[in-house]
Amino acid sequence: MELKELSKRLEEVYRKIKAELNWEPVGPTPMPELSDLRNWDMRLLKTYKPFYAPFCDMCCICTFGKCDLTEHRRGACGIDIATQQARLVLLACLIGCSCHTGHAAHILDYLIEKYGPDKKIDLGEGVAVEAPHIRTVLGMKPETLGDLKVAIEYIYKELTHLLSSVHTGQEGSYLDYESKALHAGMLDHVGMEVAELAQISGFNYPTSVAETPLVDLGWNAFDKTKPIILFIGHNPATSTAVVDYLRESGLYDKVEFGGICCTALETARYSDRAKVVGPLSRQLFFVRSGIADVIMTDEQCIRTDITQEAAKVGSALIATLEKAMYGLEDATNMDTDEIVRKMVDEKKQFVILNPRKAAEVAVKVAMEIAPKRRKEWITEEEAKELAKKCSLCGLCEQVCPNLFNIGKGISEVAKGNFDTIRDIFNLCIGCGKCEEECPRNVPIFKIMQQAASKEVWKIRAGRGPIMDTEIRNVGAPITLGTIPGVIALVGCSSYPDHRDLAEVVEEFAKRKYIVVLSGCAGMVAGMWKDADGKTIYEKYPGNFDAGCVVNVGSCVANSHITGAAIKIANIFAALPLRANYEVMADYVLNRVGAVGVAWGPYSQKAAAIATGCNRLGIPVVVGPIASKYRRLYLSRKEEDDWRVMDARKKQIVDTGEPSPEHLIYVCETKEKLMVTLAKLCIRKNDTPQGRAIKLNHYISLYKKYMGGGLPEDLHLYVRRDADIPLVYKKEVKAYLDSIGWKPKEPVGLPTWIGTYPTKVPVDAVIR
Ligand code: SF4
Ligand code: SF4
Ligand code: SF4
Repeated sequence: MELKELSKRLEEVYRKIKAELNWEPVGPTPMPELSDLRNWDMRLLKTYKPFYAPFCDMCCICTFGKCDLTEHRRGACGIDIATQQARLVLLACLIGCSCHTGHAAHILDYLIEKYGPDKKIDLGEGVAVEAPHIRTVLGMKPETLGDLKVAIEYIYKELTHLLSSVHTGQEGSYLDYESKALHAGMLDHVGMEVAELAQISGFNYPTSVAETPLVDLGWNAFDKTKPIILFIGHNPATSTAVVDYLRESGLYDKVEFGGICCTALETARYSDRAKVVGPLSRQLFFVRSGIADVIMTDEQCIRTDITQEAAKVGSALIATLEKAMYGLEDATNMDTDEIVRKMVDEKKQFVILNPRKAAEVAVKVAMEIAPKRRKEWITEEEAKELAKKCSLCGLCEQVCPNLFNIGKGISEVAKGNFDTIRDIFNLCIGCGKCEEECPRNVPIFKIMQQAASKEVWKIRAGRGPIMDTEIRNVGAPITLGTIPGVIALVGCSSYPDHRDLAEVVEEFAKRKYIVVLSGCAGMVAGMWKDADGKTIYEKYPGNFDAGCVVNVGSCVANSHITGAAIKIANIFAALPLRANYEVMADYVLNRVGAVGVAWGPYSQKAAAIATGCNRLGIPVVVGPIASKYRRLYLSRKEEDDWRVMDARKKQIVDTGEPSPEHLIYVCETKEKLMVTLAKLCIRKNDTPQGRAIKLNHYISLYKKYMGGGLPEDLHLYVRRDADIPLVYKKEVKAYLDSIGWKPKEPVGLPTWIGTYPTKVPVDAVIR
């Protein structure tokens, strides 16, 4: 860039981020554009190479095509299969980032309209570093809701440029598309943070507190004798308006309300009377039960046939956001009583874009129609009778994406045995294809529901950001390795066995890792009780500390998890974060033993979240259906570049140690996941004591879940004798001797500082 042009751009950026406010000097990358962090990305991608598993090797994105990209063929525009896959990954990340940023922008406008742009961002006394992502990426310290608009405008601009890069005949390098995807992932975390800062400040969500209320979880949590309003989606503008309306009109205890997906989690942060039904995989089941009197949709993760499904069971429906209007009439400006009359008498469904009006209509309609509706599960006897209609034709099994033996399960129900159908239900994604296909109209969903658990579990309401005091307490043990790691379970979690996540939480909480959850993963992990009838939220404290289980909140609350990693670098290690993205990411990659898990469906939002974690140096494990994840970032342990800067000698040294081994990795089973998580928490900066603790868990999990013996790559992580866990000393020594292992030269506090321009002195990281 021309010097003149560059200084003009910087002038503009400095004005926007109020660079004259001297809370910290501005680092080298304020409001980074597409290419500003490219060197960092390329350094990551050099070690963690993209691995593609194409769903489809044709491209039909433009009318030159469709083009066959198999066997080194190129498309009419010249693109090859790797670049095409990377382009699709970028598109997925852009969709995910747009969803979170769109949500943030909507809620911000809503709250600014309500309270004005000068409303202060307030996360309570425990949180001084309120916006680690915005501070690090933009170089700005937001103080008011109005300040957050700057972050939204910055993301919009970058998203537009990124989206334009996927046009036919443009970027020709898969690595550059990956760099752009990493950029989109980073923006995603900024967008999520904006949504959280606005929501916490505008709705007075709990913050600066660890033990938030426990709320009811499960589809039997509703009191079915009362009118029931169900929220589906991710945006709390309307659900909080419903709670307000109920409070103001004296109906707060007379109407039940709750939701599916993140709006449920958001509403539970606003009112502990809200019920959390479950994740997306339970949506169709619950809607078809007819238990909801009124369904209110907002945005994301809503079934696109929701209007038809609601109509079939007589639930009223209101669409409350422009993003999902279903072809319905917009009644925003219609008289409230007229809408209610049309919904009750004529069964009409409407769009109502004014949250307050939508809330009033929903409550009035629910009160009117609830007494006339049957809202019960079918009985065991009824299920047995209905199951007798099955002719065992097998058509349902042919269309099931998971090839479940549904016919067998149904025929056993007819004989009074519900076990097989219950097992199928526990793994079912709730797509509804089986029931749609059945030529005898067997109500498979109703029968499954009869067999399914009617348990009511507990979930801890999302607590928002990690407090600065907590960061100070755990900073040293995490970076030295004596807290063996932070395990973050995020994403939709809809199709693994629903017990998997609770088991992962238990395993790692007992081992004194810090376990953090968000979104639907937080719900699914709560859907299990131990022998004493306790869920993980009742068993473990909600602090950000060893052996604790933290639910941060909905999907957008993921920004607090990555934000905590930044805060460790900033608050504990005292590294300046302002516009210093590479320094933060470098520190996190080398020192903060955190790993993310997206167990189950990998939506576009999950792709953006995971890719944002990766740019910040946090590895992510996906699974359990390996073929579905399109792109991984994998190293080849013994061949790749594991050089780092020895900060004391100020020399680049080759550690030969693959830590963390991968940035996105796939596991096929829960057992493999357990072992992999322990391994991916290993960092080059572990002290001998910390490394011995981490290896102790790696070995013991390997023995527990992989059938005994020692991990075959163990020697790569033992640097010197002091790293060997005491309890396995003899066995490990014998193994190391057998392969001719030699101790490695000690490396002084390694980081990658120095591989990019930075104003932060290398000495600053020696703490
Ligand atoms: S974008 Fe390229 S590869 Fe795809 S259809 Fe068009 S010409 Fe073919
Ligand atoms: S609803 Fe469940 S059982 Fe039926 S087809 Fe879908 S995954 Fe299979
Ligand atoms: S499609 Fe219907 S009739 Fe055929 S096996 Fe499945 S449940 Fe039975």
